[in-house]
Amino acid sequence: MAKIVFFCIPAHGHTNPTLGVVRELTARGNQVWYYSYDLMREKIESAGAVFVSCDDYDMEQRLTPKDAVRLGKDMAFSIRILVDTTLALDDKVCAAVERLRPDCIVADSMAVWGKAVAMKLGIPFVSSTTTFAFNRYSARIMKQSAGSMAGMLLSIPKIHKEIRRLQKKGYPVRSFLDLIQNDDHTHTIVYTSPAFQPCADTFSDMYAFVGPSIRPASGEIVKIREKLIYISMGTVNNDMLPLYRRCIAALARTGHQVILSVGALVPTDAFGDLPAHIEVFPQVDQIAVLQKADVFLSHCGMNSVSESLYYGVPLIMLPQTKEQEGVAERVSQLGAGIRLKRSDEAAILEAVQAVLADDAFRKSAAAIADGFRRCPGAGGAADKILQVCRKA
Ligand code: UDP
Repeated sequence: MAKIVFFCIPAHGHTNPTLGVVRELTARGNQVWYYSYDLMREKIESAGAVFVSCDDYDMEQRLTPKDAVRLGKDMAFSIRILVDTTLALDDKVCAAVERLRPDCIVADSMAVWGKAVAMKLGIPFVSSTTTFAFNRYSARIMKQSAGSMAGMLLSIPKIHKEIRRLQKKGYPVRSFLDLIQNDDHTHTIVYTSPAFQPCADTFSDMYAFVGPSIRPASGEIVKIREKLIYISMGTVNNDMLPLYRRCIAALARTGHQVILSVGALVPTDAFGDLPAHIEVFPQVDQIAVLQKADVFLSHCGMNSVSESLYYGVPLIMLPQTKEQEGVAERVSQLGAGIRLKRSDEAAILEAVQAVLADDAFRKSAAAIADGFRRCPGAGGAADKILQVCRKA
C-alpha cells in the first residue's frame, strides 16, 4: 500500500476538492498525511488522513491587512511570502518527509512549498489544480494582463534573490516558474472537465481532468414560486450590502423566489421587512439551493460555477478578480450565462429576465453538466496518484 503526503493552502476552495480523493485513497488501504492549517483539521481527519498542522509556519496568516492586499498584486512580494513559508517549513517538513519516504507528494498548485520539498528530496510529485490548468494558450482566457506580466518582468532581480535563498537551502530550483508552472511533464490533477477547461487539447496526457467534486446536499429547499433566483458572492469577498440591496430592489416586483447568501459580515436585518418569497441568510447549503434554482447570480468562484453548472443552472456573472473573470469568460463562451457589465437594478433585472426567457442558457449549462458527469471524479484522481506511486 502507498504512502502519500498532501500539502494545501488554508482555503476551503482548494481543500474541498481534495477531500474525496483522500477518502478514496484511504478507503483503498493507502496511508495519507495531510499538511494543512488548523481551520481544516476536522474535515481532513474525517476524510481519513493524518493531519499535520502548518499553522506555526504560515507567513500568510501573519500579514497585516495592508500587506495581505499586496499579495497577488505585487509579484515580488508574493514570491517572498511563498519563499518565506517554504523556508519556515523547511526543517520540520523535510526531516519528517525524509523519515516517511512517501511514494508521492500531492500539492495544491499554490502550496509551492509542497512541490519544492518534492524537488529537494527527489520524491514523485502530483500537482492538484482547483482552477483551470494554465499554459500559454489557456492564459489568454485567464486574462493574464500585459500589466501583470510587465510587473513580473520588472521584479525579476528581486525574484532571483528569492530563488538564491531557496538554492542555498538545497532546493534545486532554477527559476520561480519551476515552482508555479506545471509544464507538460508535471503530473497534474485538474478538477474540471476537458470540455470546460479552456484549450484542453493543448495539455499533455500527464494532465487528468477528473471533473468537479460536488459534495452531497445536507437537506432539501422548498420551492415556493415557479422560479427561484439564488444570489451569492462567495465566502471571501462578500461584504457587498449595496449590491444585495439593488438585487432585492430589482427582483422584489417580479414575484420570483429569491434566496440571498450574504456572508457573515452583512447583518441579515439590514434589509428591513422582506416579503416571504425573498430570504436572506448569512450562509446556505448551496448545493441544496442549486438543486432547485433557475438562475444563479454569482461572483464566479470556480467552485460556485462548477456547482451551478453541475445542476444545469445558468449564471449571471459579476466576477471580482482576474481568476473569476477567466471563469466568467469561459461560461460566456459556452453560452451558459450572461456577464453583467453594470450592476444597477435595471441591468440585474434585464439579465435575470433574459436568462429565464431563453432556454438556450439552460441547455448549454446542461451540456456542461453532462461533460462533468462523464469525468472519472475522485476515483480517477486516486488512480492517477497511485499510478505515479507505482512508477516510483
Ligand atoms: N458556499 C456555501 N454556502 C454559501 C456560500 C458559499 O456552501 O452560502 C460554498 C459554495 O458551495 C462553494 C464555496 O462556498 O463550494 C465558495 O467557493 P468559490 O470558489 O465559489 O468562491 P470563494 O468563496 O472561494 O470566493
